Amino acid sequence: MHVTAADIRRALGGGEFLFYYQPKTSFLSGQVCGAEALIRWQLDDGSIVEPDAFIPVAERHGLIPDITQAMFPRLVADFQRTRSEFGETTVALNVTAQDLDTPRLLALVHEAVQRGQIDSRHLEIEITESAVVSGSDATTRSLADLVTAGIPLSMDDYGTGFSSLATLNRLPFATIKMDQSFVLKMLRSSKSANLVKASVAMAQMMGVKTVIEGIESEGVYNSLLHCGCAEGQGYWISPPLAPEDYLLFLRSERRWPASPVGMLRMARLSHTWQQSLLMDEVFAFLRSESSADLTLQGLHTGHTECALGRWYYGAGQAFAGDPDFDALADPHRGMHQSCEEIFSAIEKRSDRPALRKLLEALSENSTRVATCLQRLETRLLVDELSRPRLGA
Ligand code: C2E
Ligand code: CA
Ligand code: CA
Repeated sequence: MHVTAADIRRALGGGEFLFYYQPKTSFLSGQVCGAEALIRWQLDDGSIVEPDAFIPVAERHGLIPDITQAMFPRLVADFQRTRSEFGETTVALNVTAQDLDTPRLLALVHEAVQRGQIDSRHLEIEITESAVVSGSDATTRSLADLVTAGIPLSMDDYGTGFSSLATLNRLPFATIKMDQSFVLKMLRSSKSANLVKASVAMAQMMGVKTVIEGIESEGVYNSLLHCGCAEGQGYWISPPLAPEDYLLFLRSERRWPASPVGMLRMARLSHTWQQSLLMDEVFAFLRSESSADLTLQGLHTGHTECALGRWYYGAGQAFAGDPDFDALADPHRGMHQSCEEIFSAIEKRSDRPALRKLLEALSENSTRVATCLQRLETRLLVDELSRPRLGA
């Protein structure tokens, strides 16, 4: 189908665009947690035109902001219907740099949030890295503005951009969405599988959650179950659905395989990683004759605020009562205590033997924490093994 800018304007005037919703599921709960809104064009005869046929044309003619602004009230209305029946679900909207360079979309978003039509936590904004990189200062300011309003940003097609890591470091993204090209190849290419899993781990260490899209088979879903990504999306879970069909889908209350192992593993990784980072800074400080550019400030985190602590006193509480889970509280608190002692020893210019003792105490506690986490993880895996489908 050959689409022109005039066709798009006409369709916009005639209200011929609508959103389909592709469900996303949580790897932790196995339930639907939200959906991505994907635009469709419905022709008079009822047939549906996919975005690839008209979004690039709209982009070339600068029509994207018109489309997004016209469609936003529709997104909000669909969201409210879903919320009235199902409560807490999220919806993700795709935007481009063009959208963010015009103040109108931001005004619409703020207005909807202020009126309580949509909770800022439940609206996600997806934007590709290349759009962010090619965008202007205004684009960056708009992104910061959305974050200030409590709206989570998601970096779409992660890994295809020019320097995804640098962008992730520079801008306040809460989530990355791995590009499908790696996910589609996962079962055939161990390099792609490793790349996906390493990206999940790295994002986690930067405090960023991962959504994986393009899950086309049960095999891919299962191979992602323990890797620590938060949510999954793809044809195997569901294709994008018309709004009515999305509601029916939610009503069916389907469940997918779920596991707490991924989150536990991420807590374990963060624990080891953060300790290494801390040691790096302590040693850099000790080595530098003039420590003007180095400071130990900012390293003081309470035991409930570090990545492990947030998991332990948050989602991890599901394991309260497990002997290994309970046993790691003391050594973990001890680690934070040791860190404080190390900082104050450095400030007091204590001698090396005194520092060495403190480092050994830290390491001792760290080993106990790691052992507890490892044992808990193994027990959870063994539990999973004994469930009917796996053990059969
Ligand atoms: P995207 O944002 O990366 O969206 C994901 C695309 O992958 C969707 O295609 C979705 O239907 C498809 N997909 C989902 N699961 C699978 C799977 O398991 N395998 C495969 N091969 N594909 C899967 P769709 O709906 O055709 O959208 C294509 C692109 O058009 C989107 O890519 C996005 O860049 C753009 N787009 C869609 N809706 C909007 C919109 O409302 N605004 C803007 N600006 N762009 C949009
Ligand atoms: Ca997207
Ligand atoms: Ca994508």
